[in-house]
Amino acid sequence: MTKELLTLRNLRLSLATPNGALNAVRGVDLNLSEGETLCLVGESGCGKSMTAMSIMGLSPKGAQIETDRFDILGHEMAGKPQKAWAKLRGRGLSMIFQDPMTSLNPTLPIGRQLTEGVRQTEGLSRKAAEARAVELLDRVGIARAAQRLAQYPHQFSGGQRQRLMIAMALMSRPRFLIADEPTTALDVTIQAQILRLLAELQHDLGLGLLLITHDLGVVAAIADRVAVMYAGRIVEEGRAATVFGASEHPYTAGLMAAIPVPGRTPRGTPLPAIPGRVPGLIGPQTGCAFASRCARAEAVCTTVSPPCHDLSEHRVECHLPMRAMAQSIQSEERPQ
Ligand code: SF4
Repeated sequence: MTKELLTLRNLRLSLATPNGALNAVRGVDLNLSEGETLCLVGESGCGKSMTAMSIMGLSPKGAQIETDRFDILGHEMAGKPQKAWAKLRGRGLSMIFQDPMTSLNPTLPIGRQLTEGVRQTEGLSRKAAEARAVELLDRVGIARAAQRLAQYPHQFSGGQRQRLMIAMALMSRPRFLIADEPTTALDVTIQAQILRLLAELQHDLGLGLLLITHDLGVVAAIADRVAVMYAGRIVEEGRAATVFGASEHPYTAGLMAAIPVPGRTPRGTPLPAIPGRVPGLIGPQTGCAFASRCARAEAVCTTVSPPCHDLSEHRVECHLPMRAMAQSIQSEERPQ
């Protein structure tokens, strides 16, 4: 039976600023099962990374977090102390961070950085921990792994350092892996290699993978399900093929329209961009946060929070969804 790795209900995260409370995450629901890849997409500043860091128990100092349910790997984590989060991170939950250069310690050999955590959490001997490190370095494609344990991060290329980060995240044998924009700092060919590697590992190890990205090409290549985030909320979520092929939310449709399609988008044609900017997140939100940028907006959109429509594993938060959901709402409203 497939196991649920994450059940998150109504996650809210706010930060105090001199101008008032910045509500970075405004009621997020997410689920992830074993063996599944969920991509969380959206523009910079929409709350993706804050959501991921909350799930890791690593939200910024001073952040106020509230949830109705926060179940990770079968443990309810709402209000749990840092000690409980550290235990979870050492046993089953792990993360690959955006930038290896800020996550790897330049003054320590990588062997020590890979093995320190598991020696503490699992009480492994140095020999056993190094054997696991060599096995994983080999698995992520670092040649002559045993000899390289004594080397320092600067002795590895950018792509190799990201492979090191993946190996480090796998050292604790996680079941639930979060990857936050893991290829941002890499050039395009290396990005493709790293993503292929992640997809292979996810499949071979049966991991649940939560991948945070703003790159829809990545999503198309790797996702089982997609959650689209805008201004701190999930505005659309469903199977990747459905969200890509039949977007219901005008924001998702705008993102999709901005992807060039080989053979269909004429060379040199400017791609349509979504007009306007993401709204500020300070203070309460009235109506739909996307209203000022949405071509479909009507009066109700600026005054009333959009309802959530749920249609067979596809949900959207909008007053006027675009396709099948619009028909479904109309038929519900039609008098008998
Ligand atoms: Fe556009 Fe209204 Fe839907 Fe918001 S609720 S996305 S403004 S149609």
